[in-house]
Amino acid sequence: MENVAEYKEIVEVIKLSGGDVFKYCYQCGTCDTLCPWNRVIEFSMRRIVRQACFGMTEIETEDIWRCTTCGRCHYRCPRGVKLIDLTVSLRKIGSEYGVFPEHVKPVKSANASLVAEGNPLSEERKKRAEWTKGLGVPEFDEEKELLYFPGCYLCYDPRMKKVAKATAELLNMSGVEYGILGEKENCCGESIRKTGDEELFKQLAKENIKAFIDSGVKRVLVSSPHCYHTFKNEYSEYFMVNFDIIHMSQFLFELIEKGQIKITKEYNKKVTYHDPCYLGRHNGIYDEPREILKKVPGLELVEMPDNREDSLCCGGGGGRVWMETVKGERFSDLRIQQALDVGAEVIVTCCPYCITMLEDSKKTIEDPRAESLEIKDITELLREVV
Ligand code: SF4
Repeated sequence: MENVAEYKEIVEVIKLSGGDVFKYCYQCGTCDTLCPWNRVIEFSMRRIVRQACFGMTEIETEDIWRCTTCGRCHYRCPRGVKLIDLTVSLRKIGSEYGVFPEHVKPVKSANASLVAEGNPLSEERKKRAEWTKGLGVPEFDEEKELLYFPGCYLCYDPRMKKVAKATAELLNMSGVEYGILGEKENCCGESIRKTGDEELFKQLAKENIKAFIDSGVKRVLVSSPHCYHTFKNEYSEYFMVNFDIIHMSQFLFELIEKGQIKITKEYNKKVTYHDPCYLGRHNGIYDEPREILKKVPGLELVEMPDNREDSLCCGGGGGRVWMETVKGERFSDLRIQQALDVGAEVIVTCCPYCITMLEDSKKTIEDPRAESLEIKDITELLREVV
């Protein structure tokens, strides 16, 4: 009897942490057939749902931290079970009880850096706008129609600063009136929320919204699908959101259509497009990036087997971009293989996490063809042909 009481308590804790979704599950197992983890190890979300249902304490702590929140299961679940909510609630409980497996410890560093400096990369806040040196990127003021919000990776990560540079150059040549907030910008908080830290997410959201209101922001342009998702869909859970959000791929498509960006060069390569989960599945943006690529003369667009709604996750969502994934378990290795198998010379995508994961896999994958494979953000490719 004691045990039953204990289990019930745990069920209540899961419910209180937002993981109540399991009650809709009828154990069909569809999620297990779709989850990308089952391409690299044996893993069962259905089992975790069942265990949560009974408040069972033997859910593997390792498994709680696997979900990349890619949304593939949620998208196809016949009962609409939001398995991401369950994952996040289990992580919340795990964090409260100090259950951090060794490979999850970098989340703690990301957390400390977010609290101290507003970014998860242990970089100084005062250096947030250093990437703009020599690029003529203006500061935002309320006369400007658009706030450009590059996000943490584009501000600090050496690889992603190249994307920020290409973006600034495209915006400058388009004649758009835009500006940045620099040090006043904070991490959007999307990933730390998916690790279960709701309070820190709320704090970051509050500070960003205050900065937007104080500066008179009406429209925000973002490079990261994670910023896009959380500004568009998550901030409004707590705050009044009275600004529009647009993703870079949508905005560049608009600029090309209006003639503010003109494609003038050929690009004679075979290119494949990798749909980021938070742009595609979570927000339905599949066409604009492809339409941009189709406008480039000479470019041959080829699709990988898992595309659009069925895109294969890079493995970087849900805070996993901060954790080490052992070799043999990296989804980005599989994605590189898919790109090589369709004969692509270039993978184009629109997400800093995807680029980070794919670049890492390119260096370690044991396929000699990977050496010449290029990985680019759509802004980088577009910058080459204007
Ligand atoms: Fe349950 Fe949905 Fe998974 Fe089926 S797909 S086992 S209903 S969570």
